[in-house]
Amino acid sequence: MRKNVKYIFVTGGVSSSLGKGIISASLAKLLQGRGFSVTIQKLDPYINIDPGTLNPYEHGECYVTDDGAETDLDLGHYERFSNTPTSQANNVTTGRIYQNVISKERKGEYLGTTVQVVPHITDEIKRSVQILGQTNKYDFVITEIGGTVGDIESFPFIETVRQMKWEMGNDCAVIHLTLVPFLRAAGELKTKPTQHSVKTMLEQGVQPDIIVCRTEHPLNEGIKRKIAQFCNVSPTSVIESIDAETIYDVPLLMREEKLDIEILKVTNTPIPEELDLRNWERFVHRLKNPIGDVNIGLIGKYVELKDAYKSINEALVHGGTENEYKVNIISIQSEKIDASNVGTKLEGLDGILVAPGFGGRGIEGKIKAIKYARENKIPFLGICLGMQCAAIEFSRNVLGLKDAHTTEIDKETPDPVINLMEEQKKVTNLGGSMRLGLYDCHIENDTLTFQEYQKQDIKERHRHRYEFNNDYRSIFVENGMRIAGINPDEDLVEIIELEDHPWFIGVQFHPEYKSTVKEPHPLFTGFVKAAILHKSASTTTK
Ligand code: GLN
Repeated sequence: MRKNVKYIFVTGGVSSSLGKGIISASLAKLLQGRGFSVTIQKLDPYINIDPGTLNPYEHGECYVTDDGAETDLDLGHYERFSNTPTSQANNVTTGRIYQNVISKERKGEYLGTTVQVVPHITDEIKRSVQILGQTNKYDFVITEIGGTVGDIESFPFIETVRQMKWEMGNDCAVIHLTLVPFLRAAGELKTKPTQHSVKTMLEQGVQPDIIVCRTEHPLNEGIKRKIAQFCNVSPTSVIESIDAETIYDVPLLMREEKLDIEILKVTNTPIPEELDLRNWERFVHRLKNPIGDVNIGLIGKYVELKDAYKSINEALVHGGTENEYKVNIISIQSEKIDASNVGTKLEGLDGILVAPGFGGRGIEGKIKAIKYARENKIPFLGICLGMQCAAIEFSRNVLGLKDAHTTEIDKETPDPVINLMEEQKKVTNLGGSMRLGLYDCHIENDTLTFQEYQKQDIKERHRHRYEFNNDYRSIFVENGMRIAGINPDEDLVEIIELEDHPWFIGVQFHPEYKSTVKEPHPLFTGFVKAAILHKSASTTTK
């Protein structure tokens, strides 16, 4: 039984997008390197119950956990850095907090009292944080608070931090992440925004213990001292977080700045001597010293958004690093691909990845790209809608079912190769018909997929409604599309692969969610390897 779980809060000031998620994940990595077990949680102050209903323009990618929670993309960073699975408990929004409180109120659990922000909402927030500590699995619970201090919607969260700090003393600490801008005209770094941001925290009763300063230029001792003096912390607790070449540098930079040691000091935790980051260092070394590069086309409808395919981007980085190659991700807007330009748009690609998605926008472009990959024997990975498009493309262009489609887009198609399951049709009417989270998949042993996984029974995460229609299974197989993996419980097609092709795999699940620095996903490693082989074959034939 762990007696003193330590709770670390990470708040942000001055500006959004400073990288609280990466700082939280980096701190977790350092603490793990010292032998502690850590979990990271995100509290999001918006009113949606979860980000599942938010479109990528609003909130970037929706990350899915083993237990099927649709969560903030920062949880992806947490898992990729810490290699520890997260769950629904790791992402809580204001909407969920209020929903819980209101349902307790309806059940009469507040015994007739007036239900208020303080104490009822703040107690519920506290419960959501401490529930992770009470699992007895962790020495540290790191809780990142979304948004920026001073936002109206952050108030109950900051108030909860105040209460927890007051109740728990040294078992609770606050890291405040701010921006120290460089004013070119003055030729100086400016500390005033940080001072104001800490004042805003103080107005709400919270004294940060550590201040992490995002900056484009190194902070000299004078600046650190000034921030320390105005913000009531020791100069060693002012940590520089300089812009990094890659997010994977940040744990190493934070080690230099001794963020872990400061946290251990502030929380009165004995400091273990050893900090083992050897695997991480090896990864970063390989990432920065590739022996070559390959071009992988990412075909999707949100490619212009930086964070819309975050986990896919990072899984490609992991797969590339595993092969000691740099992956150049070439984003291609699927809506812009048509029969006349597909050859020029996809020219020079060593691999083609067709992204997941919902709805019909850009789907014909995805199908054209897949036809090109199939016919030109370019390594292809189709994920979720990408796999469904591969089935549609094969039906139309190989099986001659020219109007084949998914019923998500064409309800009247004569050949619904992708369809809703009967049970799902009933569920749809009730809402909540999505297949989410981890499901079993059994892989046939003489397949390319098996070669990549080197095992037959896997579990992968899902986020979709529609399925491969089993009525078309035999005609696919007879014509060269193998069913390489199925879900044994419901006999659902999970993986398809083309026989007469060097590397062509479509998966109904999302392998990208499970790729981490420590364990790059075998499908991404295999896909990048196939792209490297394709590149070397095409350069020798030239
Ligand atoms: N829209 C498809 C479905 O619901 C695919 C979803 C996805 O790509 N995540 O089945």
